[in-house]
Amino acid sequence: MQTIRKRLGILFVIASISAIILVALFVNMTISNKFNQYMIETQKKREERIVSYLEEIYKKNNQWASDAGIELIHEADMNNYCLTLLDADKKVIWGMDPSDISDLSHLNSMYVKDMGIYTSKVFEIKSEGNVVGYIDIGQYSSVLLSKEDAEFKTSINTSIVVSGIITLFIVIIISLYFSKQFSIPIKEVVNMSVELSKGKFDTKSVTESNIEELEDLRRSINILGEKLKNQDLLRKRLVSDISHEIRTPLNVLQNNLEAMIDGVFPVTAERLNYLNEEVMRFGKLLDNLNTLKDFEEESIKLNFEQIPLDTLLNDVYKEFYTIAEANQIKLNYNIKPNEKYNITGDRDKLKQVFINLLSNAIKFNKAHGNISIRLLTDAKNIIVEIEDDGIGIKKEDLDFIFERLYRGDKSRHEIEGSGIGLTIVKNILQLHSASISVDSKEGKGSTFKVFFKKFTRS
Ligand code: ADP
Repeated sequence: MQTIRKRLGILFVIASISAIILVALFVNMTISNKFNQYMIETQKKREERIVSYLEEIYKKNNQWASDAGIELIHEADMNNYCLTLLDADKKVIWGMDPSDISDLSHLNSMYVKDMGIYTSKVFEIKSEGNVVGYIDIGQYSSVLLSKEDAEFKTSINTSIVVSGIITLFIVIIISLYFSKQFSIPIKEVVNMSVELSKGKFDTKSVTESNIEELEDLRRSINILGEKLKNQDLLRKRLVSDISHEIRTPLNVLQNNLEAMIDGVFPVTAERLNYLNEEVMRFGKLLDNLNTLKDFEEESIKLNFEQIPLDTLLNDVYKEFYTIAEANQIKLNYNIKPNEKYNITGDRDKLKQVFINLLSNAIKFNKAHGNISIRLLTDAKNIIVEIEDDGIGIKKEDLDFIFERLYRGDKSRHEIEGSGIGLTIVKNILQLHSASISVDSKEGKGSTFKVFFKKFTRS
């Protein structure tokens, strides 16, 4: 297995070597082509120059001297081509030996590599329109390079190789830098997940990345860590809450029974009734936990039907009106029946949702408080709002009130409850693809909003 750094590094290097080779080939081919074209043209001009030079010489005497134009041999020898002057009958006047120019030791190695088969071209020499002789120009290579030309070509190739090596060096440094940007955040996330698996939920990944996906990954693992931390807190709180809930009625029972056995308390019907109430409270707690278990295992059977939410809320309102009055709380309900409030759901379970929300709104209210039930719609949802101006919920409790057995501080110590009402609400709503949100300020009151998607189907 390879690390990301190594893999990315290799990838960068392979990509850049391929690019360098391709560029080098392309540049080399283009330069060679252009150069050859240029050389062919120069050669053509040279041939024309030689022919017109010889024509001029012929013109002077109107015949060929045995050494006519022989001075051209020096230039030809230097530049590695071979000249043979012939008269009109193609008899040799003078000529160079091609083997003389096959010794190329005075040229550089580049040229030698280029040496090919000896080829020659014959050009006519004319005077006053008549052919008076021929000049044969031959050479070993299709294109002749001078020393400077060959050096120019070599230096270009050297530059390509040098710039290739420099580029490769730069690419290696850049790839080391960039691959670090990938590997460090990933390594950190890996380390963090190991820490989380060991139960160290306080660990956080702090090195921000400017690569979107890696930053998302970092944020997600931090959120996961945060969630695990909360779950851990809840689990601990749940265990202590359950033992507290069980311990209280058991202590009451034990103390009273012991006192009765010791004869400290008389065994009266009133006392036995009180103890029975404690036993019943204990039983209720177990029942509640059982109900919760059923919801969480989704073993609850739902009877889906068309429900007019306005009618359902009206029923709940009627049930609660007197309870609210007894608690000196004003319950406001002003919903006009309308078909647009129809949803598909389980009547009894949904009734349970609003009963739980209204019981809380009354339970956590003050004397002369107010509760309003509202029914609204927006583009996507039918929304039920239950607003109270009661004691409100602490900011730090808001995230947890829907968790099992979670109870706000106040309710734990002063107000009766089991801490599962809202958990049941959330579970029922989930089974209806509905959701709930809460808005609350301590001392000011709370608003619970239930969102049913329009056209909910079972
Ligand atoms: P319980 O009511 O049995 O305590 P719930 O699950 O119904 O349990 O509620 C959880 C907690 O949420 C309550 O203990 C309370 O702190 C808080 N809460 C719920 N509804 C309200 C409300 N309307 N006003 C203030 N606090 C509330």
